[in-house]
Amino acid sequence: MPSLSDIGTIKDIMQRHGFSFSKGLGQNFLVNPSVCPRMAELGGANEKAGVLEIGPGIGVLTAELARRAKRVVAIELDDRLIPVLDETLANFGNVKVIHGDALRLDLAGIIRDSFSDCDNVAVCANLPYYITSPIIMALLESRLPISSVTVMVQKEAADRICAKIGSRESGALTVAIHYYSEPRMLFRVSPGSFMPPPKVTSAVIRMDILPAPKYDVGDEKTFFAMVKAGFSQRRKTLCNALTSGGFLTKEQAAQAIADASIAPTARIEALDMDALATLSRSICQIKI
Ligand code: SAM
Repeated sequence: MPSLSDIGTIKDIMQRHGFSFSKGLGQNFLVNPSVCPRMAELGGANEKAGVLEIGPGIGVLTAELARRAKRVVAIELDDRLIPVLDETLANFGNVKVIHGDALRLDLAGIIRDSFSDCDNVAVCANLPYYITSPIIMALLESRLPISSVTVMVQKEAADRICAKIGSRESGALTVAIHYYSEPRMLFRVSPGSFMPPPKVTSAVIRMDILPAPKYDVGDEKTFFAMVKAGFSQRRKTLCNALTSGGFLTKEQAAQAIADASIAPTARIEALDMDALATLSRSICQIKI
């Protein structure tokens, strides 16, 4: 099989299958031959691992994962790509393609049925950018038995995800991701590495899933509601931000902030993870 990152090969496949790119499905296919092997290596594809891929496209990353991993399951939403993948991945006996929406499928069931003989399960994907946050949050929140998530995302999203908690670059997504995992930046990828080229630079990040959260937040629902309220008004003082959307009354917010020994004029974006966890526990006490 010729290289799936070769532009001539891609054009030939597209022509034979009558395929054209869908902007709506975030279809930017990798044509830089060095990116997929690097992603597969750094994403933890090895002979004992199972790998779950979201959005295989024509299978350029899938093939690199299949060369290294014990088994690969790739979920693709676009039905036009299913016959393409049947052709491009025909030589790999360890790949299964599932046609469906990664946001709607029972990922826990797929992992249980497909990877029971694997030492660990890694997620590795060049994500469609329109679902970056929902996919990452679905993977983390549902506490799937996965060891890591290695994904290509827009560079701005990568910067936000990997930002230090307590810095201006951090946000609600940053806090949630740092609660469930240890994220790190792996490498950047230029627009010219894709066909068609996107308008923005991309980056590959890896999130190593924590076996258990490092921080005692009291109650997770309260913690995430606090983070949501706080960051929705991030430039306001904490006391004002925590009353947004009716999350707390002014009195409750002032009390919780004082109990957590945080300055009343502080902004949520200045709090590190310890301070956020302490504040969450104080709110839990008040809301009982
Ligand atoms: N992995 C290929 C590559 O690197 O060249 C394609 C990546 S392309 C950025 C994203 C892929 O995700 C497309 O093939 C698109 O059809 C697919 N996709 C979009 N939304 C999806 C969803 N909700 N579930 C599964 N796949 C999806």
